[in-house]
Amino acid sequence: MHRKDDCIFCKIVAGEAPSAQVTEDERTLVFMDLFPVSEGHTLVVTKEHFENVFEATPEAIAAVGAMSKRIADALKAEWEPDGLSVYQANGAAAGQTVFHYHMHLMPRDAGSALTLQGRTQAASDVLADQAARIAARLVH
Ligand SMILES: [Zn+2]
Repeated sequence: MHRKDDCIFCKIVAGEAPSAQVTEDERTLVFMDLFPVSEGHTLVVTKEHFENVFEATPEAIAAVGAMSKRIADALKAEWEPDGLSVYQANGAAAGQTVFHYHMHLMPRDAGSALTLQGRTQAASDVLADQAARIAARLVH
């Protein structure tokens, strides 16, 4: 499986860097964003390293989409947000900060700022708790 040695998401996939993990399947890994914009801000990443949508295979993108649907339903069940942003950025100009293909799922409340990255790092115990709450809501 293709990986990039200086990529933080590849390190998380390999278990070489910590993350608050929610679930995984053959092609994807799901964990909490370290700089959340809202409670429940989750990332779905490909296990294989692709820099962006242009490098990623259709199969990898389909797997991220299917997993994003599962996570979206779990977030809705757990937090009942007013809205949910599902966002995927390609290139710095588009707001991509980690150059490994990934999808953001961000519960939104009415009037909340539409930012992609929070200013402060969340505490690991808080993220672990949120990851467990989402995992408990996975129904399929
Ligand atoms: Zn990577």
